[in-house]
Amino acid sequence: MASRQFFVGGNFKMNGTIDSIKGIVKNLNEAQLDKNTEVVVAPPALYLLLTREHLRSGLEVAAQNVFDKPNGAFTGEISVEQLKDSNITWTLLGHSERRVILQESDDFIARKTKYALDGGVSVILCCGETLEQREANKTIEVVTAQLGAVAKDVKDWSKIVVAYEPVWAIGTGKVATTEQAQEVHAAIRSWMAKTLSQEAADKTRIIYGGSVSEKNCKDLAKEQDIDGFLVGGASLKPAFVDIVNAKV
Ligand code: PEP
Repeated sequence: MASRQFFVGGNFKMNGTIDSIKGIVKNLNEAQLDKNTEVVVAPPALYLLLTREHLRSGLEVAAQNVFDKPNGAFTGEISVEQLKDSNITWTLLGHSERRVILQESDDFIARKTKYALDGGVSVILCCGETLEQREANKTIEVVTAQLGAVAKDVKDWSKIVVAYEPVWAIGTGKVATTEQAQEVHAAIRSWMAKTLSQEAADKTRIIYGGSVSEKNCKDLAKEQDIDGFLVGGASLKPAFVDIVNAKV
């Protein structure tokens, strides 16, 4: 089985100020971070350049969203070319807050994923079920449909990290149990083996998101198919360092 580098992303969402983001960056720059962990932080668009300018090299910056068209008349959007120009090497896509609040469809997310990858920007691709869907035993069906929309157009998943984020666990303090998370991660991996290739299944990082904290990260990180975390609230706090170091 291929070994997969542990990956921890920080999603600041629509939070932060110039001062607070400088503080988060300083804390990361000065921290002892596990050298085996890949670290990517996603500040709001307005602070991407500030973050890139101050963050030490080796730590990467992600946009929280990107558009599926080249530069042009698309008011309010940011292009893949602009991210590249600014040395922003990753983007989040398909976060449940965008799927639910902004009503982004699976197909739109798939188009944006393809466009980002074709333009050389790596993608943290989020998927996850609502509580209602989980209670109706639809978790795997929902998650594989979300990923399946991408698989229709994207065959090479080497620049994708999949973030499994149950909607009911995001920002609620209600973390999935290690068994619940592992079960879905394993199902995603076997879906990848069937739909993409055994190689994609072995190599693609599948990270967990949903109320990850410095307290629960070590147990989650022990699970065989959990290759890291996407962290929201806790990425704004010094404890983010402990999550990056979950495997130490
Ligand atoms: C997220 O925003 O992706 C997330 C997982 O948030 P939180 O860690 O706050 O639940």
